[in-house]
Amino acid sequence: MKKICKKIQKDIITGTKPDIRAKDHIGSCKACHNTIDEYNTITKIVADSLLDVSNEFADKVMSVINTENKTLLEPDNRWVSSYFPALSKIVSHPSMTYAGVGAGLLITITNIIRFVLFIFIPA
Ligand SMILES: [Zn+2]
Repeated sequence: MKKICKKIQKDIITGTKPDIRAKDHIGSCKACHNTIDEYNTITKIVADSLLDVSNEFADKVMSVINTENKTLLEPDNRWVSSYFPALSKIVSHPSMTYAGVGAGLLITITNIIRFVLFIFIPA
């Protein structure tokens, strides 16, 4: 495929209006002319099929998409709550977040102090 054909066919597919040079080329190039024919055929098929889509269909598709998105975004901790209902209640309590952060900080500070003591106090 020639370089100009590649550029013109890309313009056809992306819907860019051809300039006078491109128009001249399309008039003499069978490959580019076929691309225009195919593009027009596909555009017509898509436009015709879109007219047949009912609003109900679009609503159904959107409701399925919304349901799936919602399911994906929800944290899946149902198995925890079904097997250990008491544990799930305790863990999901906001104070447990602070307790976890506090424990993490305590361990971190302890490790820093141990490291500093290890470095500065000769054995
Ligand atoms: Zn061409």
